[in-house]
Amino acid sequence: MRIVILRLGHRVQRDQRITTHVGLTARALGAEGMLLDSDDRGIEKSISEVDSRWGGSFYVRRITNWKNEIRNWKESGGKVLHLTMYGVNLPDVINDIVTEKLLVVVGAEKVPPEVYALADWNVAVGNQPHSEVAALAIVLDRLAALSGTEPLKTQFSGGEVEIVPKSRGKEVREK
Ligand code: SAM
Repeated sequence: MRIVILRLGHRVQRDQRITTHVGLTARALGAEGMLLDSDDRGIEKSISEVDSRWGGSFYVRRITNWKNEIRNWKESGGKVLHLTMYGVNLPDVINDIVTEKLLVVVGAEKVPPEVYALADWNVAVGNQPHSEVAALAIVLDRLAALSGTEPLKTQFSGGEVEIVPKSRGKEVREK
């Protein structure tokens, strides 16, 4: 399944770190890229530095009209999953999430009400408030498990370095 994240409501001063973590988590768990509803170039820069050093082709694309992005995505056959604590709890909906192309909407500040109507699924990762990073990680992991894939084993091609996994200590190898 192709997965792209749509990050809505990013505030340049407040959300820089958490939006970067949304992108890094999406990248590490198999998503192909993130659409960022903001003109903050800093996120794009820090994620592309991670790609250059650690490999892979995860992208960040700044967008100006999120409604058009959602409409275009749906017109091209994609489905939209909105992560919200008010939604249907993930264990109760996961088996319905069947598609080749999934746009996962993650909010920062209050999400506009239209998102709830445009989404195919409004999904809660438990109906309690917590973090968009945690919610995204759990939903990507559960979707991968359902499709029998293991995103944690992804090989990130290109890049300058790679980690040699060790039970103790740290080893990073130049490629
Ligand atoms: N106060 C904001 C509002 O009322 O929409 C939400 C702030 S919350 C920290 C930011 C994002 O985290 C939400 O838009 C949602 O995507 C995600 N999130 C937080 N808790 C969640 C949960 N239990 N399930 C799914 N997503 C959640």
